[in-house]
Amino acid sequence: MWRRILGADWTLEEELTIGLDLVRRLKVDMVGRLIACLTVAALVAYSASIQLAALWIVLVFLNEFTELKLNRRMRDERLPPRARLVPYLVHISLGSALWTCMCLVLWGQGDFVDKLTAGAILVGILIHCSLFYSDSRLQSLVTGVPALLGAAVMIASASTDPFLTDRERTVACVALFTLSAYLAFGVYMGVRTRERLRSFAAKTARLAAQDPLTGLHNRRSFFEAVEAHANSRAKFIVAFLDLDRFKPLNDEFGHAFGDQVLTEVARRLEQSPGVLAAARMGGDEFAVLCAAPSNQEAATRFMSSLHDCVAALIRCDAGVVSVGASMGWVRAEAVTGPVSEIIHSADVAMRRAKTERVNVAEFDPVIDSTSITSSALEIAFSQALATGRIRAALQPIVSATCKSVVSMELLVRWPESGFARDPAPLEFIPVAERLGLLNEMLWTTLRQALPSLVGTSWSLAINVSPSQLTSSYFLPKLCALLEQHGVSPGRIELEVTEQVTLRNVAENCAVLSEARALGFRIVLDDFGTGYSSLAMLDRLPLDKIKLDQAFVEELKDRAETQKILKATVSLAHELGMKCSVEGIESAETAEIVTAFGCDQLQGYWVGRPEILLQAPVFLKLAS
Ligand code: C2E
Ligand code: MG
Ligand code: MG
Repeated sequence: MWRRILGADWTLEEELTIGLDLVRRLKVDMVGRLIACLTVAALVAYSASIQLAALWIVLVFLNEFTELKLNRRMRDERLPPRARLVPYLVHISLGSALWTCMCLVLWGQGDFVDKLTAGAILVGILIHCSLFYSDSRLQSLVTGVPALLGAAVMIASASTDPFLTDRERTVACVALFTLSAYLAFGVYMGVRTRERLRSFAAKTARLAAQDPLTGLHNRRSFFEAVEAHANSRAKFIVAFLDLDRFKPLNDEFGHAFGDQVLTEVARRLEQSPGVLAAARMGGDEFAVLCAAPSNQEAATRFMSSLHDCVAALIRCDAGVVSVGASMGWVRAEAVTGPVSEIIHSADVAMRRAKTERVNVAEFDPVIDSTSITSSALEIAFSQALATGRIRAALQPIVSATCKSVVSMELLVRWPESGFARDPAPLEFIPVAERLGLLNEMLWTTLRQALPSLVGTSWSLAINVSPSQLTSSYFLPKLCALLEQHGVSPGRIELEVTEQVTLRNVAENCAVLSEARALGFRIVLDDFGTGYSSLAMLDRLPLDKIKLDQAFVEELKDRAETQKILKATVSLAHELGMKCSVEGIESAETAEIVTAFGCDQLQGYWVGRPEILLQAPVFLKLAS
């Protein structure tokens, strides 16, 4: 019943907070109350008796004194809320009963002027409690009800009072009704303003906690959600996601398209079962809070299915795209420390998932506490390059039919780096690019690798980034280096990614055509990772496409991927290109892609990249 009167969302805790706030405001109200108290005392002394007026003053001051005492009890947070509510209720009921009684005494005792003054004071109390206390429903109720009853008694007695002349009775009733109407209007306005303020405050709070594009939590409110969950002591998982190919996609198709992708990812995260809160942490980064499944196996399965759900093809206005995602996750109990530490751990695991290209990684305190900052890499990299510690590794690429080595891919390595673990190429290559040392890195590793081509028929595949391509001295320097080692450009494959088509397309195409004219072969690396693959085949002067390992991973489970693979291979052949596949980790995958007509295979099953210390020895499948 109380809930019905006070409202369904009424809580004891909120009432106490409002109550304390009111108590603070009442101190400001003190002067007004003092003047009202003395006015009433003077009226009582004039129309009733001095003793009654004195009693009134004593009672009011007693009430104010108990208020001070009771307030202290109310602020005592060691007491349970119910025990703190009692002094609060005692104080407000005492106060309002006192004022209402005295107004009734005045009404009954005094002449016409006293009656009107008493009525005005009483209605004043009503306005006061309805507006001033409008935040506290309980206080409005406790002070308002006696005052309302008092007003009703006054109106009833004014209309029947035999000592009043007809004129006075009319004046008293009109005055009381006018004041009551004013009161009703005041209450109405007060309530309306309060409701508006509340809904505005709720809206502002919601907006402040929301990411405007996706409607998910923003970073700050996600921290709060995780914190609230951590306090409840329930077991939970925090995962951090970063979309793999969002930025180039956004550059290529524009922001409206990017927004569609982000909104779709947000929708998938939010609607995934088991997700308690999802947030956009900025750009293309998301985080989720999930209830922890009962055991490790179930948790791993759950996180992997969440990843698959986000990474599944996205259908939007521009077509169907595969954006891909890397995800790191952590069980809250694996981290000791504040919530920020838990979220940071999930972020660190996500970065590892990205560099190791494993899609999903659970935070591992041993591995991940050795995460290397890019500033540390920047300091160490140039020194390592200058002192010959940046090494070339070669990975074989074989013919799909006869399994003989046709080519080697040159991959960079940083062994004996001095860090707790050796940084992966995807960690230090962006650093080399920032430092403007990418070309220097290539010349260093090429010098190590070129001698291994002597006496073989292998080609050498080198990875070239768009920034290298556009530098005017790149091709002449490359040719000069090859000449020094007696290797013709016809034995070199330049591996470029779709990134070359995102900026300066015409310029990049011109450089690639020039390279081709010099005899180099051009390979489109990481094909099938997404957003514009088929268009590339037409745009770029290509000799070969290399299907990405992400593509291969889906091959066994998805009939759709198999169809795309078949179509891509036959399209490449029709356009006069060869087709190779990377990431072959099992004989089974090798068999499938060979059956689909792929020409060349690369992957751990064929041979792992091996650092060149001297001449490479590939025992397994060497020609
Ligand atoms: P990429 O050119 O696509 O190279 C293939 C990557 O896949 C290599 O990773 C290789 O070690 C890995 N890989 C090969 N077979 C398998 C497999 O069966 N399973 C799995 N899981 N992975 C396999 P790595 O060496 O870490 O290089 C990553 C990327 O870094 C390369 O991708 C390339 O884009 C870039 N990169 C590597 N070396 C160089 C370099 O010398 N110069 C430039 N510009 N980029 C380089
Ligand atoms: Mg490559
Ligand atoms: Mg690749």
